[in-house]
Amino acid sequence: MTRSTQGKIVIFSAPSGAGKSTIINRLLERFPRLEFSISATSRAPRGKEVHGREYYFMDNAEFARRAASGEFVEWEEVYAGTCYGTLRSELERIWAKGNTIVFDVDVKGGINLKKIFGEQALSLFVMPPSVGELRRRLEGRGTDAPEVIERRVAKAAEEIAHAPQFDRTVVNDSLERAVAEAERIVGAFIG
Ligand code: ADP
Ligand code: 5GP
Repeated sequence: MTRSTQGKIVIFSAPSGAGKSTIINRLLERFPRLEFSISATSRAPRGKEVHGREYYFMDNAEFARRAASGEFVEWEEVYAGTCYGTLRSELERIWAKGNTIVFDVDVKGGINLKKIFGEQALSLFVMPPSVGELRRRLEGRGTDAPEVIERRVAKAAEEIAHAPQFDRTVVNDSLERAVAEAERIVGAFIG
């Protein structure tokens, strides 16, 4: 990747259920020059997910082979036995169009991407109003089994402790207020 092809990136991280996918989707509608970074994952597709739209799906062996040959900018074993990562080819694909890349990554991945891209990157942490409300949203979303919800809620306190390492924190209390705040921050960054 040559330096001249590099553009800006916007990183969203949050505990699962805080509302980052909802906010990202609103931003993608609002700013046509933003484009979502499709991650690779070793988990199986869920529901109506399509290869090349939500994720690039691959088995653990292919993920490990690509990681070993340096194809990822960053990757994490986000859940035991399940890896997620960003392919360098994905960044080139989006920057080649002159677009700004939006990432939905776990908290460790968000901190790593900010370290790699520095001033080229804006990192946002989406904060739930409380852990109790986070649990209610995960239950209300209806996509996860009760034990998966427990695991996600248990991880939340540790993730929230990393919020100060992000450029900005957006509290997702009222969705409309949080979207308006995210639009202001991202709009100022992409110019
Ligand atoms: P994440 O991507 O962070 O895991 P989602 O965007 O999937 O979270 O949101 C989790 C659930 O909470 C979804 O059902 C979503 O509709 C709901 N939600 C998002 N923001 C709010 C909000 N401000 N108030 C109430 N519910 C919300
Ligand atoms: P899902 O619910 O889609 O199985 O889990 C997604 C989790 O993995 C979320 O926390 C999401 O932010 C994270 N994630 C998705 N893609 C990447 C990636 O490329 N890198 C990292 N580090 N985390 C990712």
